[in-house]
Amino acid sequence: MKVTINRDECIACGACWSDCDAVFEENPDDGNSQIVAKYQVGGNPAEGEIPDDLVDCAKAAADGCPVEIIKVG
Ligand code: SF4
Repeated sequence: MKVTINRDECIACGACWSDCDAVFEENPDDGNSQIVAKYQVGGNPAEGEIPDDLVDCAKAAADGCPVEIIKVG
């Protein structure tokens, strides 16, 4: 399933990688959230394609994002 992060709006709170570190992590350069390299599409840190067993975790992270910039599906 597709996952996107509007990284320009990220406030680097850390909630998403705390909730779901299988899909999200801190970008070492700007401190904002990114999709883990394994699931990035075309090397884009803002877009991923994740397996079905991680959808619930990614959705929980999306629900927990205080600025609502994570989209799943
Ligand atoms: S939860 Fe939202 S604001 Fe916080 S680090 Fe993740 S994407 Fe950024």
